[in-house]
Amino acid sequence: MPEFAIVRTVADLRAQVGAWKRSGQRVALVPTMGALHEGHLSLIALAKTRAERVVASVFVNPTQFGPNEDFDAYPRGEARDAELLAGAGCDLMFAPGVAEMYPQGFSTSISVTGVSEPLDGAARPGHFNGVATVVTKLLLQCGPDVAVFGEKDYQQLQVIKRLVRDLDIPVEIIGAPTSRLEDGLARSSRNAYLSETEREVAGRMNLALSEAVRRLKAGESVERVEATGRAALERAGFQRIDYFEVRNADDLSHPGPGTLSGPGRVLAAAVIGKTRLIDNMAVE
Ligand code: AMP
Repeated sequence: MPEFAIVRTVADLRAQVGAWKRSGQRVALVPTMGALHEGHLSLIALAKTRAERVVASVFVNPTQFGPNEDFDAYPRGEARDAELLAGAGCDLMFAPGVAEMYPQGFSTSISVTGVSEPLDGAARPGHFNGVATVVTKLLLQCGPDVAVFGEKDYQQLQVIKRLVRDLDIPVEIIGAPTSRLEDGLARSSRNAYLSETEREVAGRMNLALSEAVRRLKAGESVERVEATGRAALERAGFQRIDYFEVRNADDLSHPGPGTLSGPGRVLAAAVIGKTRLIDNMAVE
């Protein structure tokens, strides 16, 4: 197996990436919060097709969690993550501590307006500022040629594409398709929170989304599809529905109540027990 290393400081990360670039190798970055699963590993596999070297960051970013969210409970397991990354052919794991990322006196926040405002932006105030800030830092720390993000977090992917364009960060952002379990549930580190009965309810979210895609393609109105989708999640047993919405695919603006004309995306977020799940699907 090729050599695999773990670094914990920005200086060590830069030294290794700099050496690779000087020898003409392209570098890909895959940012994660650890608790890795096959979805993350599919991003590593995609990254390997686009660069000679792959860096994965593992950092549970405190600034993207709200005060009453699951930062403390978020699953962590660095040794297992390192093993999975090495096995997937990743070259370097960047696992900084909180003080390396946010040293005393840290005062800057990146805020992307527009695309980060609806959906998860409305349901989780401050979340996308935390994401935008940490991703900007990771891109500047690593300086990759490409960075890979999952479509599982579709709004996050659009926020990152926007900030990279707006700040002229020289990196290509690549979206990777959502990796799913047998019943269609999107793989997620948070699935580990689900009890057996909750796991069954969780599996119905992707069915509600694919039904919405089918109805939109058949010409049903956005308004009706959203109402039917919300009702389906309620019937399935979700206790709180943050949103079930149809949006324009590129900027996530709302297409209005009539029939969808251009490329769209159906996005949902709902809570079962203590677990908040999100998922989305394309309407091509
Ligand atoms: P996370 O560790 O959950 O912050 O996710 C790290 C990266 O993996 C993000 O770009 C996610 O969109 C992506 N990701 C998470 N789950 C999946 C999945 N099931 N399929 C594809 N990508 C995923």
